[in-house]
Amino acid sequence: MSETTLRGSGMTSQRTRKRMVERLEARGIQDPRVLALMARMPRHLFIEEALASRAYEDLALPIGFGQTISQPYMVARMTEALLQNGIPERVLEVGTGSGYQTALLAALVPQVYSVERIAPLLEQARQLLGRMRIRNVDFHHSDGHWGWPAHAPYDAILVAAAPNEVPESLLAQVKIDGPVVIPVGSGLQQRLMRYTRTAVGIQESVLEMVHFVPLKEGVG
Ligand code: SAH
Repeated sequence: MSETTLRGSGMTSQRTRKRMVERLEARGIQDPRVLALMARMPRHLFIEEALASRAYEDLALPIGFGQTISQPYMVARMTEALLQNGIPERVLEVGTGSGYQTALLAALVPQVYSVERIAPLLEQARQLLGRMRIRNVDFHHSDGHWGWPAHAPYDAILVAAAPNEVPESLLAQVKIDGPVVIPVGSGLQQRLMRYTRTAVGIQESVLEMVHFVPLKEGVG
């Protein structure tokens, strides 16, 4: 991928990204690592060209198969919540989608494992991250309700689609003191949650009300 493509021009330029990050700050995102990284990450490459001019608006946008690339604010909020108690070494992401969140995680932590149930989306993300020379991500086509037991336990887990209740198998695959950041609930009544597994049980905190696509059963 050429420097020009990565840098973008006009509506996909560095300046447009900087304005997006200023809006994230205005909405309360504080982590300088997250803000600096989002100012660099070319989000327009993760959506189809026809929508590229809207890539730095704070919107979820369609990526095909009835799915969306998450809204920048949500990506920032979840990433911030994941890093709150230090940089995790190995992170499980459920819901690869476009791979945008995956690429951000890969720049922040040593190793990312990413699970997606829709094979063509997974393949597109795998190829794009390959072209971006991001090498510390392992992809898996599977129903993320079950996590990815082969590489468990993880230091942190991030889920980009909402189940009605938090899957027990995800809570079981995070290390002690590790966070699981996940939207939980149905329809318009979802809460972004941060569960932490402790020696004596699961601690939970509600981050805010959110609206994500549902975490679906089985593979697509
Ligand atoms: N972070 C991604 C979010 C995509 S939307 C991005 O910004 O592009 C959520 C994704 O979760 C969709 O791609 C959807 O197919 C996927 N998904 C839904 N249910 C799933 C499940 N049970 N297992 C794995 N992925 C799932």
